[in-house]
Amino acid sequence: MLKLLIKGGYVVDPSADLEGKYDILIEGDKVSKVAKDIFEPEAKIIDAEGYIVAPGFVDLHVHFRDPGQTYKEDIESGSRCAVAGGFTTVVCMPNTNPPVDRPQVARYILSKSDCLGICNVLPAGAITEGRKGEKLADLWALKRAGCVAFTDDGSPLMNSNLMRMALELSSQMGLPIMNHCEDDTLAKGAINEGEVSAVLGISSRPPEAEDILVARDCTLSLQTGGHLHVQHLSSPLSVDIIRFFKDRGAKVTCEVNPYHLVFTEKEVLSSGSYAKVNPPLRKEKDRKALLEALRDGTIDCVATDHAPHADFEKGLLEEAMPGMIGLQTALPLMLKLVEEEVITLKDMVCLMSTKPARILGIEAGSIKPSSTADVVIFDPKKEWTLCEETSFSKSKNTPLWNKKLKGKVVCTIRAGRVVFRDGSFQV
Ligand SMILES: [Zn+2]
Ligand SMILES: [Zn+2]
Repeated sequence: MLKLLIKGGYVVDPSADLEGKYDILIEGDKVSKVAKDIFEPEAKIIDAEGYIVAPGFVDLHVHFRDPGQTYKEDIESGSRCAVAGGFTTVVCMPNTNPPVDRPQVARYILSKSDCLGICNVLPAGAITEGRKGEKLADLWALKRAGCVAFTDDGSPLMNSNLMRMALELSSQMGLPIMNHCEDDTLAKGAINEGEVSAVLGISSRPPEAEDILVARDCTLSLQTGGHLHVQHLSSPLSVDIIRFFKDRGAKVTCEVNPYHLVFTEKEVLSSGSYAKVNPPLRKEKDRKALLEALRDGTIDCVATDHAPHADFEKGLLEEAMPGMIGLQTALPLMLKLVEEEVITLKDMVCLMSTKPARILGIEAGSIKPSSTADVVIFDPKKEWTLCEETSFSKSKNTPLWNKKLKGKVVCTIRAGRVVFRDGSFQV
């Protein structure tokens, strides 16, 4: 059995409330021991001195465009991007072509990911047939095929009756219903409604489009007992609504995209359509409210909403497709918040690994002995640039393209196997 010994790293594992200098012994695909100064002559040594070692990150929200739009990304390029960003498990959204509204597509994603053996790619099934919002998909069949959650992401589920039925099923199935909460009768425009949209004369989408749907879905979650997971939260009132319903015992969780934590609507002025995303980047006061909600625990986890698009789809602001790639930039952006003392390093690992794993109810987000050996080793100080040479995505739609970043993954281990290694890092 292959043995790996990660030596001398600064280990952060929120699941075991562990932080400090430890060695980690991996035997086969499992962690077998976490202790000081482990001696194991048969093990291959990974020298992690000066680096941080944490459970592999878990991303509840990526778009791998496979099947159907593999010119933007596919399961292989997306998986390589994920492990280069420290993610060992990702949940891919069902807005593929065909969509994941039937078991065959879920099985295709799982078998392709299994064959590649790079990253654990788990499919989210569509809530409705064809993601059209008219008729529930066969959620039980999708669950049996391996779907770990349901969402019509890319579009909101607008029909309240279907949302209630989905949440009722969720409480029986034990899987979360995720929603892209933006009322699409209000959210028609390209960027946030505010000064920037006024100055540029660009169509806009107001935060209340989000608040309305968050309030409706939280209400239905409380009534049905179903698990609602609100995707990519961006509005302060939505945060307050979620806090209100959590206090009353509703089974509601939510995620935030790192971009909404560091950028504001002004980013559109310098990055143009690369800064166009739904829900849109909002105002500084909104960003501050999200940081506060991150600190007080209202926001449960971070998810990248990695959304690759080709350059021809990212032309004029008004027509451009919304979304940004984000798997390789999540760690440097979150480390910036650690450096600014918004959150602690342990909070960061919890938000990127332990908590999202718990939301899904999967065995991940921990490096306690006997857990699956999914591990990320990163250098919080290393400076690098996201560009053609360093990016693993087929697309480059992010305001951070060609920008200097601080904090880089040097090695990622998935089920006891090294699946990513930075050029200079020896294994
Ligand atoms: Zn969305
Ligand atoms: Zn999305």
